[in-house]
Amino acid sequence: MLRIKGSALEKIITQAERDYPYETCGLLLGKIDGDVRTVFGAFETPNVNPDRKNDRYEIAPEDYLKAEEKARQFGLEIVGVYHSHPDHPDRPSKFDEERAFEGFSYIILSVSKGKVVSYKSWELFEEKFRQEDIYVFG
Ligand SMILES: [Zn+2]
Repeated sequence: MLRIKGSALEKIITQAERDYPYETCGLLLGKIDGDVRTVFGAFETPNVNPDRKNDRYEIAPEDYLKAEEKARQFGLEIVGVYHSHPDHPDRPSKFDEERAFEGFSYIILSVSKGKVVSYKSWELFEEKFRQEDIYVFG
């Protein structure tokens, strides 16, 4: 299950709409307690995919390290990844699934004509994605 602070979710939505028709991406900073990941902040990372930014995203290792550093400053850790699907549903692609880590939350936002129309969070379970509940707080 994913708990996410309202302000972090708003930031992600704004970013996904701004970057349309390209995929946007970033890392979720928060805390893990058993099966519950609580997100307090969103760390934007550039999509460094060289040639398919409309349907692929890639986070550079140095941006991952920057996010880790930022999280540490606040006593947090990286608990997941978010990215958008321009003109596609909020379901993970095969490509998304293959690159996912167990124990992380994956928020996917569907953006149509520049507006976020839906979003879902996914977690890896026995090497397959399954949807998880999202609870927005304060
Ligand atoms: Zn995707």
